[in-house]
Amino acid sequence: MTPVLPPRLKHWMASHGRPLLETAALGFCAAGASRRAFSRAPDGAFRVLAYHQTERRRAERFRRQMEWLASNRRVVSLGGLVETIGRGEEPTRGSVAVTFDDGFANNFETAAPILKQLGLPACFFVATDFIDLAGQGNSALKKWGERVYRFTRVAEPMTWGQVRSLVEAGFEIGVHTRSHADLGKLSDEAVREEISQSFERISQEIGVAPNLFAYPYGKTPMAPPAARRVAMRSAPFRAAFSTERGWNTSSTPRDWLRRDSMEPAFSPRLLEAFLSGMFDH
Ligand SMILES: [Zn+2]
Repeated sequence: MTPVLPPRLKHWMASHGRPLLETAALGFCAAGASRRAFSRAPDGAFRVLAYHQTERRRAERFRRQMEWLASNRRVVSLGGLVETIGRGEEPTRGSVAVTFDDGFANNFETAAPILKQLGLPACFFVATDFIDLAGQGNSALKKWGERVYRFTRVAEPMTWGQVRSLVEAGFEIGVHTRSHADLGKLSDEAVREEISQSFERISQEIGVAPNLFAYPYGKTPMAPPAARRVAMRSAPFRAAFSTERGWNTSSTPRDWLRRDSMEPAFSPRLLEAFLSGMFDH
């Protein structure tokens, strides 16, 4: 019998792959299994973590993950990694970059201070229409939530002032479209507009042209190869990121680099398991 899931849980399951099963599976894994999996990583392979919200009540859990990263992996800026592979060089094996999608205010309030304190770089991919909702009230946020996440209780976005503060603090800002659209459903022209308008807006607001892009939702049906080609031609991007789990190397297509969807609530041990490739398909 197929269990009937409430829509919110169903969406969470769909957008996070199989983390519930993975979390359960980890209960059976010894810590040594992560290290064995990591030892099989290809030379020059790196991984990119993708977070969404970092609520205050998860701050300590998130801090523990970042402390583990700072002591156990080489955490590098996403732009730096892309530059390294662009020169045809291999990053240090097991390098990791940290990213956040959508532009939640709790990234600015909770995650950024922890990252700053630990000296860790990160890239924040913002959807510009979401940032424009800052201070617009609950009904605007509710509408955004219904359309984008299929639930209505949505945390506040960052303001443009906060986005600029991140840049001043040395963090990177990337493009995540205007409206967080499902690119698979748009015409080429509409994809072009989503990308070029959000690229222009961010450039004007922060005074720097962003050159990294993350596909909304990050899975193939919402970012099919044809839409990827249009996206890469719509702004001077050096790389674009999915939410397909796995290792990246210098030969991974630059318009479809992989990221691991993460939750601030995960333990350092679960983070290590993801980063070791234990759950790669
Ligand atoms: Zn997103």
